[in-house]
Amino acid sequence: MSMFCYQCQETAKNQGCTIRGVCGKTPEISHLQDLLIWLLKGISFWGVRARTNLNISDAETDLFVAKALFGTITNVNFDPERYAAWIEEAVTRREALRARAQAACKAAHGDAACFTALPEAATWTPERYDAQTLELKGREVGIFADSDLDEDVRSLRELLIYGLKGLAAYTEHAYVLEHTHNALLAFLQEALDATLDDSLGADDLVGLVLKAGETGVAAMQLLDEANTGTYGHPEPTQVNLGVQPGPAILISGHDLRDLEELLQQTEGTGVNVYTHGEMLPANAYPAFKKYAHFVGNYGGSWWRQQQEFDTFGGAILMTTNCLVPPKAGYQDRLFTTGLVGWPGVPHIPDRQPGQQKDFSAVIARAQTAAEPQPLEAGTMPIGFAHAAVMSVADQVIAAVQRGDIRRFVVMAGCDGRQRSREYYTQIAEGLPEDHVILTAGCAKYRYNKLDLGNIGGIPRILDAGQCNDSYSLAYIALQLKEALGLEDINDLPISYDIAWYEQKAVIVLLALLSLGVKHIRLGPTLPAFLSPNVVKVLVDAFDIRPIGAAAEDLVAISAGR
Ligand code: SF4
Ligand code: SF4
Repeated sequence: MSMFCYQCQETAKNQGCTIRGVCGKTPEISHLQDLLIWLLKGISFWGVRARTNLNISDAETDLFVAKALFGTITNVNFDPERYAAWIEEAVTRREALRARAQAACKAAHGDAACFTALPEAATWTPERYDAQTLELKGREVGIFADSDLDEDVRSLRELLIYGLKGLAAYTEHAYVLEHTHNALLAFLQEALDATLDDSLGADDLVGLVLKAGETGVAAMQLLDEANTGTYGHPEPTQVNLGVQPGPAILISGHDLRDLEELLQQTEGTGVNVYTHGEMLPANAYPAFKKYAHFVGNYGGSWWRQQQEFDTFGGAILMTTNCLVPPKAGYQDRLFTTGLVGWPGVPHIPDRQPGQQKDFSAVIARAQTAAEPQPLEAGTMPIGFAHAAVMSVADQVIAAVQRGDIRRFVVMAGCDGRQRSREYYTQIAEGLPEDHVILTAGCAKYRYNKLDLGNIGGIPRILDAGQCNDSYSLAYIALQLKEALGLEDINDLPISYDIAWYEQKAVIVLLALLSLGVKHIRLGPTLPAFLSPNVVKVLVDAFDIRPIGAAAEDLVAISAGR
């Protein structure tokens, strides 16, 4: 094996990428990611003990752990230099924390004996930070580092780590908007540290996985407060799908602050701004709608970027996942920022305190580039996050009580390249006319341009926004349960047909489980990192099931099964 990674749904043969990632990840990047994750466990070893026993913490290191986890999510960063820099920073931060913890321990107890049996991740330091040294170590510390490890323990450790990556992403997004919650950062380290502890068995790890889900709910709530508190509540909006004359920038990813600063810096320059992929829901925020040069959405979900970035013609800014290996036709118009990276693609540096990021290079590139070629025309309804849905709650509840709305189907999550995802289009098309789809994330691109009509003015596709906005779906479900006077969230007329691709979807799934949601259909395949026994635990406790044939699932969903 040149590498091993099975963290996303598109992993080779639904078993693992062993030669090169389907996503474009090279063995070099895979080994650097493995080393970085291992070092984050080492930081967490000291972080947990320093926080718990000595009341010591380091806010910058806590945040670094979250950012570095986010950086290893599928399709975020493919740049070996950035990984080498993060690895060096990880060792430096770990050693600083270790020194503080050992000094405090010695002061309290007269020696450093409170830290014995140190795992290698808590002490290893490379002789050099060159690519070869780091890659070699990365090969030793990956998923199969301990070949004797029980397969269920390995599976649960990886499930936990992938959930933590999603949790870290949501936490970091909120942090960018100056919303922090120390308990979220502390949990990341508690759970990473636990993956080093060979005394923890499957039951302990299942407990931690469920705690990750609970923490995920808190992170999504915090992010919802950050987004809506900063930019207002999304409003039902018809977003323009066509193009306008003039130079243009396409912004993708999830970072709303990047979008805000880009809109401010492009105002009056004659450059139009369009969204792509997961940035689509930004068109529904009052704070962004006020910009006349924020003209709409171009194209579909992330995996179409190799075609759509070609025809877009203008400059392109990737703020978060999901970056696909760029083609020559647009690479010289592509920019990354935040945690995203691709070797040789210009990177817009982080903002300095009190300042904005400087997007002038992106704007200058747009001014010399071609204008976008039309892909489609018309408009599409978006902006049905929890505030918009709750503002018509009486209408929705009356429609449910009259039987006009017989069932909601949550079809949230991710989109991807595989043809098997046509299942989700077939489900959307085949649902009876008294069924309403609740969605968030890019899974919606499989059906959001279908005309499914409305029920008494309520659209049959209610799009709550990005995968980052999945909290809206949980909030709506909990409010409906309350309004309908139900005891159990599973008594609601809601079915869950979730599509997953990468690790943000893992934390959304764990969050739903922690809220007690059962009978979730998950597809297009079950995660390769779940061992048969772990799947059995999920089936027994939560009745999770893989998707089946669309025709059969339609009958079952409609019958409430
Ligand atoms: S992220 Fe997915 S596609 Fe990429 S190497 Fe890992 S499993 Fe393969
Ligand atoms: S929903 Fe998932 S796949 Fe889609 S952009 Fe968000 S994180 Fe990526």
